[in-house]
Amino acid sequence: MIKAVRGTRDLLPPDTALWNFVEAAVRDVMRAYNFQEIRTPIFEETQLFARSVGEETDIVSKEMYTWEDRGRAQSDKGQSLTLRPENTAGVVRAYIEHKLWDLGLNKLYYIGPQFRRERPQKGRYRQFYQIGAEVIGPPTAGSESPARDAEVLEMLATLLDRLGIQNWTLELNSVGCPADRARFNEALRQALEPVAAQMCVDCQRRAVTNPLRVFDCKVPEDQPIIEKLPRISQFLDEGCRKHFEEVQAILTSVGVPFILNDRLVRGLDYYTRTAFEFTHGALGAQNAILGGGRYDGLSESLGGPQAPGIGFAIGEDRLVMSLQQTADAVIGKPNVYIAPLGPGMNREAARLARELRRHDLLVELGDESFRLKKSFETAEKAGALYALIVGENEVKADAFALKNLSTGEQVQVPRAELAERIRQD
Ligand code: AMP
Repeated sequence: MIKAVRGTRDLLPPDTALWNFVEAAVRDVMRAYNFQEIRTPIFEETQLFARSVGEETDIVSKEMYTWEDRGRAQSDKGQSLTLRPENTAGVVRAYIEHKLWDLGLNKLYYIGPQFRRERPQKGRYRQFYQIGAEVIGPPTAGSESPARDAEVLEMLATLLDRLGIQNWTLELNSVGCPADRARFNEALRQALEPVAAQMCVDCQRRAVTNPLRVFDCKVPEDQPIIEKLPRISQFLDEGCRKHFEEVQAILTSVGVPFILNDRLVRGLDYYTRTAFEFTHGALGAQNAILGGGRYDGLSESLGGPQAPGIGFAIGEDRLVMSLQQTADAVIGKPNVYIAPLGPGMNREAARLARELRRHDLLVELGDESFRLKKSFETAEKAGALYALIVGENEVKADAFALKNLSTGEQVQVPRAELAERIRQD
């Protein structure tokens, strides 16, 4: 038997109803904050990710699905392509390629699959889905303002509340500007020199190549060493400190709670200043529902104009997991099951189904070959509230037997009153 590839999965009903519920809420909230949707390709030139996400990150160094694309002729040199491991790089590429600033497009969101070759576990997949948004634009459009950071964070709090997700925690940090980070990296390098040998292999490598990434380490034995390392908060320059203070002040003013976590450096290289994560207790080890931050130099590093930005990516798989409790309220059950009784009744039943569906009712349709008992069983299995019986007598009278499947009560209802009667429950 051929099965879905390790780390990928089929999303099946009834879960898909939850996915649609989440996406509908996202689209609503995004509209209220004036974001518009962008869809970028799921594969891009490998260079794009190497230059934005960063060569030294786990994503680029070991998790990407990369291949040489064949040219038409045998002799053609192949192009290195990669399934997108995240979507910010693609959005910023599109921003530059289509000069989106000229069109005044500076608030964009996306929903789609991403690919990382991570070790699969609960809440971690090799094909997973992200919902993300980016505010990006020329500095003259205010894209650098702490007001944008706070607006994005407040929008996320609104979205989570709207989805009924409680007990989330917003963890906030500032990773400073590149100059702050250079000084911080140097301090880290020095602090790591005498202790790196006692750390995991990854950290030993990071201590030399990109000390900041040591904070991504999850190895328990390394944590006491990491605890004692210098923190980025001690290295922020005046501008970054003020920016960060203003983000916090606005959040406090709008009533969005947060905690400061100066270990939060995020696993991608392009972040500057504000970095954040929302976590949720019920998710277990993989407890980050979403992460994001500011990336003021990203456009330039991809050959674009100066275009400060801030964005986030929600792990949709995890968001849906934290919603399982509300599943029943979201998954639609048929309002009515139509049971044609006897030969020739499929035609009448189809007419009725068409009428009732036009009244926005959720209708399941049986078959004339079923006996009454089988019809009721099928209706109950489908979770229908009512069964509607379509037999010869009913058609003649133009009134139909409507049975409430939970109370067992059965009444005769004229065709014209059916939709309203069914909708009452
Ligand atoms: P990142 O792009 O790494 O900042 O991730 C943003 C969010 O995407 C995380 O907070 C997770 O919720 C989700 N995410 C990242 N990697 C995976 C994965 N392999 N499987 C499921 N969700 C993921």
